[in-house]
Amino acid sequence: MLAHTNNLGYDPTMHMCNPACKGLHADLQENAIGWIENHDKSHLSIMSTSDGMEYALKDCWIAEDKKNHEVTILKMVEGIPNVVKLVAHWDVLYDGEPDCMYHIRASHGVCTSGFIRRFHWCLLLTPCGEPLVYYSSKLELLRAFHDFVSAHSLMLASHVLHGDLSPNNFIIHDGQGYFIDFDHARIIAEGAVSVPSEGTGTRPYMSICLLREGIAKGATIQHTASDDLESLFFIFVEFVTTFDGPRSFMKDEGRRPLWVDKFETSGADPWLAKQGYVLAPHNDSSLMEKTTSFFTPFSQIIQEWHHLILAAASDLSDPSVGVTHAVLMALLKKWISQLPVDAPTEIMVPMASSSRLGHPPHDDVQSSVGAHHSTCIQQRVS
Ligand SMILES: [Zn+2]
Repeated sequence: MLAHTNNLGYDPTMHMCNPACKGLHADLQENAIGWIENHDKSHLSIMSTSDGMEYALKDCWIAEDKKNHEVTILKMVEGIPNVVKLVAHWDVLYDGEPDCMYHIRASHGVCTSGFIRRFHWCLLLTPCGEPLVYYSSKLELLRAFHDFVSAHSLMLASHVLHGDLSPNNFIIHDGQGYFIDFDHARIIAEGAVSVPSEGTGTRPYMSICLLREGIAKGATIQHTASDDLESLFFIFVEFVTTFDGPRSFMKDEGRRPLWVDKFETSGADPWLAKQGYVLAPHNDSSLMEKTTSFFTPFSQIIQEWHHLILAAASDLSDPSVGVTHAVLMALLKKWISQLPVDAPTEIMVPMASSSRLGHPPHDDVQSSVGAHHSTCIQQRVS
């Protein structure tokens, strides 16, 4: 294609180098493959290997009425460890105006009523990590889960309920786990402990209660911190029953992630399969027995976590409280201190790039974000 990319409707604030321009930019940083124009017209290098901080750019289209939501939430949780930090945010400009789907449609003469105006918006975040499935050891993964519970608790104290815990919403950077995505986070009113939910979330990891009452019955129910911690349990169980080594290595390529599998095969009642495991009697060991050989030392953690959920669900004085952050953190901390170090042979297991866990997307019916992607970029040091 010989046309200028602007004429094709491409983002004019992003330049990806091609063979024709290679070597022509005197100011391109080492090994950079292009740049993004920042809100102040400075350039952010893409994939540069020069010294400096690494950032992730979240490039998204957001409905007009939700435009500031994630920025507001990120500011509310700023400073909490294990949460990505918002560095900058800006409207992508097109012909000097904020880029909006309305312009694209108007240029084609399509202006229907009821159309949602989505704005092209950039969020610059740090650190830039890898998906959580790239954990390097059992201990690193366990520490990440402990830190997620701690961060979740601190967010609550700042009146933020994350509301959509799934493997896609965590990264690992420099051995530490981080929450990265707050599109669906909610602000909790002063004095309240929950937010009304119409049953949105990433379904394989949603709590039994949200699936049973919210989705199955189509009712508006209260989403609590306990629903989020239950999602964390489902993510934990899925990792240790699916992966056979560090960096999501799988010995058995045909192995299906547990909840994704149950979700896809259970038809209208995806909560039933979960309930069978999670609310199983105290001495039931069916989940423990599902760990892979690599994660055998985690089978007892699964059982003790299962017992916490069971005890909380059986507490008739207030079953909505669920497992508390403090109790769960104590359990994970105990196991962090007594976990044997991975054998070198386990650490040397090669990465199987074809065996990524196929995570379904968030159930995006009411999403504020149409499509987004992140790009690893580096701030220009000048
Ligand atoms: Zn170029």
